[in-house]
Amino acid sequence: MKFSVDEAAPGVFHIEDAMGVCMTLLVGKDRALLVDAGYGLDDAAFLPGVFAKGRPVTLLLTHAHHDHALGARWFSQALLFEQDAPLLPVYTGKAQRERVLSQAASRGLAPQGDFLSAPMPEILPLSEGPIDLGGLTAIVLHAPGHTPGSAAVWVPERRLLLTGDAWNPCTWLFFPEALPVQEQAVTLRRLLSLPFERALCAHESVPYPRAALEAFTAGLTGEAVRAAERVVIEPYGAIDTRRIPLPDGQELIFDFAKADPDAPSLARG
Ligand SMILES: [Zn+2]
Repeated sequence: MKFSVDEAAPGVFHIEDAMGVCMTLLVGKDRALLVDAGYGLDDAAFLPGVFAKGRPVTLLLTHAHHDHALGARWFSQALLFEQDAPLLPVYTGKAQRERVLSQAASRGLAPQGDFLSAPMPEILPLSEGPIDLGGLTAIVLHAPGHTPGSAAVWVPERRLLLTGDAWNPCTWLFFPEALPVQEQAVTLRRLLSLPFERALCAHESVPYPRAALEAFTAGLTGEAVRAAERVVIEPYGAIDTRRIPLPDGQELIFDFAKADPDAPSLARG
């Protein structure tokens, strides 16, 4: 099977694509919401047909990166925060698609359809607030950090938070469009003000307990920023990437040039 599917909670399907990135399908009584679309090698549009059983489906992209957005090529429309709209043509353009194809080939994977030239869907502006799916609510939150227009989705009925790449146990905060670590701390505190118990992120196939995000956020101190050690991440060697080790094997890789260790949003050690 080209996708592996785990029903993380009733009506919540966490779906891993062949390249190892996850999307989440929320199925209410009336409608379904697909949060992210994966790399797009294989037709992601059939998934709601199988799991949402014919309910209308809306696609929401948590951000514009290729491993979340290229799967949107199988849909006619997608929601995205406007701050990420300028990034989309870069991350879903031909050069990026060629890189994805060569990564896929190295894993013995080939795309369905015309991966290099398939058009992207119409992009509709996303805004904060509830999307009522019928007995299940997706509350959209702006979660800037990993990208300026990153989104998270809170599902109060399941006490669940979908974080996209706004938080992963290994969070990357060093791409040119990434915000400083002190702004990531603001976003994580805001997410932690919500009463969720588990989080589903895009680069793990299983839910994480709330305690993981709490420990991650508490570890973002000014002292930790100052002490962070250089790590070289190719092909981003020109960026002063540094690593903060965090509890339970978590880590944050960030751009030291943007960091302000004295910012009030960073916890005291
Ligand atoms: Zn990303």
